[in-house]
Amino acid sequence: MTEQPTDVAQAARVVLVSNRLPVSVKFGEGIELMPSSGGLVTGMRGLHGRDENLWIGWPGAEPPNDELRAQLDQKLAERNTLAVHLAEPEASRFYEGISNGVIWPLFHYLIDRIPLVVRDWDAYVSANQHFAEKAAEHAREGDLIWIHDYHLLLVPGMLRARMPRARIGFFLHVPFPSSEIFRILPNREQVLRGLLGADLIGFHTFGYRRHFSASLLSTLGIESELDHVDIEGRSVRLGVFPMGIDAAAFSELGSDPATLEAAAQLRPGTVGQKLLVGVDRLDYTKGLPRRLLALERLFERTPRYRDQLRFLQIAVPTREGGSEYKSLRREVEELVGRINGAYGSLHGTPIQYLYQGVTQAELVASYRAADVMVVTPLRDGMNLVAKEFVATRADGDGVLVLSEFAGAASELGEALRVNPYDVEQVAAGLAQALDMSERERRERMSSLRQRVLSRPVEYWARSFLDTLAETPDRFVPNDIRRQPAKLERMARQLAEQPRLLFALDYDGTLEPIRWSAESARPDLELEKLLTDLSGAPGTTVYVVSGRLKDFIERWLGAFPIGLVAEHGIWTRQAGESWQCHADGNAGSWKPSVRTILDEYTARAPGAFVEDKTAGLAWHYRRTDPYLGAHLARELRLHLVQALAQQPVNILAGRKLIEIRAQGIDKGVGVRDFLGLLPDVPVVAIGDDRTDEDLFSALPASSITLCAGTGLTRASYRVDGPSEVRWLLGRYLALRAGANSSLDE
Ligand code: UDP
Repeated sequence: MTEQPTDVAQAARVVLVSNRLPVSVKFGEGIELMPSSGGLVTGMRGLHGRDENLWIGWPGAEPPNDELRAQLDQKLAERNTLAVHLAEPEASRFYEGISNGVIWPLFHYLIDRIPLVVRDWDAYVSANQHFAEKAAEHAREGDLIWIHDYHLLLVPGMLRARMPRARIGFFLHVPFPSSEIFRILPNREQVLRGLLGADLIGFHTFGYRRHFSASLLSTLGIESELDHVDIEGRSVRLGVFPMGIDAAAFSELGSDPATLEAAAQLRPGTVGQKLLVGVDRLDYTKGLPRRLLALERLFERTPRYRDQLRFLQIAVPTREGGSEYKSLRREVEELVGRINGAYGSLHGTPIQYLYQGVTQAELVASYRAADVMVVTPLRDGMNLVAKEFVATRADGDGVLVLSEFAGAASELGEALRVNPYDVEQVAAGLAQALDMSERERRERMSSLRQRVLSRPVEYWARSFLDTLAETPDRFVPNDIRRQPAKLERMARQLAEQPRLLFALDYDGTLEPIRWSAESARPDLELEKLLTDLSGAPGTTVYVVSGRLKDFIERWLGAFPIGLVAEHGIWTRQAGESWQCHADGNAGSWKPSVRTILDEYTARAPGAFVEDKTAGLAWHYRRTDPYLGAHLARELRLHLVQALAQQPVNILAGRKLIEIRAQGIDKGVGVRDFLGLLPDVPVVAIGDDRTDEDLFSALPASSITLCAGTGLTRASYRVDGPSEVRWLLGRYLALRAGANSSLDE
């Protein structure tokens, strides 16, 4: 039975953005619009036809003059489509140069196909800009914007910069390669940052999603959870949505009397002969040469097959201009000639090879006629042909030989899996398929059909959109990073207050995060800033830190400022002694936790444990990023189980796992101070999760600034310690100016 996702996405308008439109354009006497083919278009067509959903894409050819361009735009608008016009040579540099010349082979692990020098990146960036601009121009508040595939990897980020609140989804139709392959890509950081502009990034398989997370870690040092990653104050969902086909239509066509008639015509004339079928675009990812070699090997090692089978290979022309494709065609045709020459007879040849597209009726007839469908790509994001074959086989018979490197292999476990690089093994797989008993064929096909029919393409589209629609309306802090005018306005706003209480985090806010805990000692600039700030009229300063009391005392104890250490366990008013707020038992669980942490430290060179009054922190900043992230995840699970009954919180911070007594946080730590100065407005600045406790404890009128990139409830975002120091310095200068003018 088909599992139906919920209908939450039904109400919103969908804006689809893909490289190609659902129609292809031809300029002759006038303009001719023809439906485009391919899996993406078929998959989205139903969705596009609904209501006023919009589709933005490149028409594939540029109008020769303005008049035709206006006519084209008009014709497209009538179909709810919008053209992104790309002028030459930008269009080919973008499409052939980078998209198909670099990203396509790289994402399919064919690194020897990448040009020696990558030249056209600028065209890829500017074409992506055109798509983002067009989408931003036409998308409305509340739309679900869905961007597709490897041509547009930068669009989510570009669109996010223009539409901070938009709901943006991205689906990758090709594989996401292993991080070791991905990191070969020049501009890899830009690509990852581009993708992270989305709210939801969808992949066909769990493997691709895992590779993406690994690439985030190895390339950007960003750790992700299994199904999301928090970045720039947003949570980006990472989802797995295996694309389906129009299963009902294929199933129906497969049983149509006209199809059965056409299929019978395709069957070999000789009784007992079997038909193998392959249908692919003639692309080097589809593994045609090795497939043919496997067939040759089969004939060599088992002569009886020479008369017993015919192989129909439909090779659909694609990207014919490229020299790679021309030489592939030559190679395939030579192999076909060689095998037919060696193993044909006066009565026929074993391979029937067509270099042409076929109609859907012919395609389905060939699926239906096949005894064995041979799908052996070297890599393939999904491979829809495999699913279409299964859907048409309402007779319950037929064997699917499927490459383990096609995304479809992760769903279609009952196919005969082969390694397309291992010619011997593919030959053995073909023999196994040819000799399989009817009972086994039917058992396998029955399970395959159940799976393919229960997850049609509409299910895929709707699950993706429903997940995207769940993106919460988010609070977006006012981002004033690297914007001098806005930073200046903020400094003025602060300086205008007659009195102010500053609650300032230390590490990551006043001082950059350092390699070692000891090396973050305040420099002269910071010492002067704290001295001036504490001496400024109407200004009270607290440093609210998670650090050990001893560090804070040693570094900041001499300044006339209030201090909070260990996230609120210890507090000290200016000039007074330290107060401890943890009760005597607060750390009774520490020895057993310490044992666990020491075990993990022993496994991770560079990791260390920080011992606090009522807490412990496991730091892995200096550990290999993969190992650190892996062990941190394992450690969290371990601690959650081990400490289920203990009054502690387990927090994942910036490259650390912290275990601390429940009930005390930075918010609790400042409560007493706030009580002392109830009418003084508060300015709080922090950079990580622990500072969010501080922000949430403050009165609504407070000004809160996040100096980090994480999710925040702060009302402003600034760019780390250098901007924080600038802001405080500017506040002091303006204050001094205001006071001197008052004194005059
Ligand atoms: N197809 C087509 N014309 C043909 C042969 C096949 O449009 O002459 C369709 C086929 O039905 C399938 C798609 O092309 O939907 C190929 O998708 P697949 O995922 O197998 O490979 P891709 O071409 O996207 O790499």
